[in-house]
Formats: sequence, C-alpha cells, structure tokens
Amino acid sequence: MSAPRPAIEAAGLGRDYGSTRALESLDLLVARGALVGLLGPNGAGKTTTMLLLATLLRPSRGTARVFGHDLVADRSAIRRCLGLVFQEPCIDGLLTVEENLLFAARLAELPKRDALKAVDDALERTRLVERASQLGRQLSGGWRRLADIARATVHRPALLILDEPTVGLDPEHRDRMWTLLDDERRARGTTIVFSTHYLTEAEACDYVVLLARGALVADGNPAALKATVGNDVAEIEGPDAARLLESARGAGAVRTVVRTERGYRIGMSGPREPLTALAAALPGVSRFAFRPPTLEDVYFERTRRDA
Ligand code: ATP
Repeated sequence: MSAPRPAIEAAGLGRDYGSTRALESLDLLVARGALVGLLGPNGAGKTTTMLLLATLLRPSRGTARVFGHDLVADRSAIRRCLGLVFQEPCIDGLLTVEENLLFAARLAELPKRDALKAVDDALERTRLVERASQLGRQLSGGWRRLADIARATVHRPALLILDEPTVGLDPEHRDRMWTLLDDERRARGTTIVFSTHYLTEAEACDYVVLLARGALVADGNPAALKATVGNDVAEIEGPDAARLLESARGAGAVRTVVRTERGYRIGMSGPREPLTALAAALPGVSRFAFRPPTLEDVYFERTRRDA
C-alpha cells in the first residue's frame, strides 16, 4: 500500500487581484497532523493563502493538493475534509448555538442521528452546553469564537484552517481555544493551519511559514528558524551602539542585525565574552543584555530585510 499523501502540497501557488500580486509563488509541504503557523505583516498574503487552500479562491498560477485532491479539479472532495474559521464570526446570530451546529452538521452531510450526536459532542468539548439555547448574537466575543470553532469542527474535519482565530480574545478564552485545538489534533490527527500576529502562538508549531509582500521569506520549525538568528541576541542601546555593532562585525560574530528605536538587536554566533568586553570599553553603551532568540527576531529580520 502506498503511503498517504501529505496534508498539503503546493507548487508555485499564486494569486493576483487585478494588478496586485497578493501571493507570488508558494511552495509548501505540510505533513498530516501538523500544526502550521502563517506569519507575516498586514498584506503579506496569509488570508489569500488560506482562501486558496480552502478552495474559496481560484489560483492565478501554480498547483496544490490537499490530501491528494487537486485544488481546482477536486474542490468538493477538499471541502468535505475542511473546517474553516475566518476573521468574521461565522455563526448565525439569529439561530441558537445548537441550531447553528446542527445546521453545520447537516451541511456537512451527516445523517440526522449522527448530526445530533456530533452537535452534542461539539457542545461538550467547547463547554458550550449551558449556552446551547442562546442566540448566537447573545454570546460574548470569546464564546462566539468558541462557537465558531465548534461549528468548524462539528463534522471532525481532517484539515482546520483558521484566520487569526485568537484576535480579540481574553487570555482565558485564548487558552481555552488552544487547548481545544490541541485536543483535536492529538485525538484525531487533525492538520491545523492558522495565521496570527501573536508570534508566541507560533512557538508551538511544527512548521512556520513567514510571508512578506506575497512571498515566502522563511519557513521551518521554530527552533530551526531561531537558530538562523544565532545562539544569542544582544540588545544594545545608547550613543555608542553603532560603534559596538561595528566592532562586533569586525570580530565576525554578527549573524543578523535589526535596528530598534534606540539601538540594535544583534543575532550573535559564538561566545558572549568578546562582545561583553567591547561593550564594557564603550561608555556610551547604556544598555547591553543577552537573551535567547525568539520568533519575533526572525520575523523582524526577515520581513524588514527586504523592505
Ligand atoms: P492581514 O494580516 O492584514 O490580514 P494578509 O497577510 O492576510 O494581511 P491578504 O489579505 O492575503 O494579506 O492580502 C494580500 C494582498 O492582497 C494585500 O495587498 C491586499 O490589499 C490584497 N488583497 C486582498 N484581498 C483583495 C481583494 N479582494 N481585492 C484586491 N486586493 C486584495
């Protein structure tokens, strides 16, 4: 028996809106069960990528397969494996939570009895049982988002696509949502693709895709991406910050540089001591600290470098 196809395979996938190249040419390989984070500044092409993968937009160029199904030729097969949460609430405010879920389950072609069971399960796992008979519009923002997730997962899709799912959620609802998605992935091997502007949310990903101006500027797992910045990030500030940077460059220890309001963030390779000694010799260095690299360092370095 041949191995199952990856969740997503894209080659040269791109989309234009008139003369705007929203997505240039994206190559992607996503394993089944992976948690994938799409990152990038506003207008980078994240939503466009997700709409393409969800078959809600036609590509202008390139090809892609979702669980082996062609994005253009096999749209209905792909839609059957999909759960979607986009930025606008997708539950109907005039229906109760339960009615919303039942409607979604029937739309996913579950037979009545299976649909009723699926709705009960979804209410249970999202802790919406007590709110089942409330109208969608009566829910607070956090519960509405959980109801969106319940709706998107009621038919237990193999691929979940979520566009900025945690925007506007308080820490408690955000935590609840991630626990829910995590459970879904562990219990059922669901592949999850989401976009976010909260870079810490991408730390748990198996695979991060960083886009800028419609092009992929970095991808990989978070540890590998952070390693491209160096083993340490030195934050330096003060009138002598530029001199310190030049000395560090001279010593060959600099991997990446990001300019900040008052100085620089330098991604360093090698030991800390030489830079520490150089900083001590410059009275105009007002702040000097080392810390481990973060995805934010990768983000700023890659998205600003080509600006
Ligand atoms: P954000 O973080 O702001 O949601 P994004 O990374 O999701 O941004 P997209 O929404 O994919 O970015 O937009 C990519 C580019 O395509 C932007 O320049 C945007 O203005 C443009 N664009 C998106 N949708 C349309 C549309 N329907 N018509 C014309 N241009 C569009």
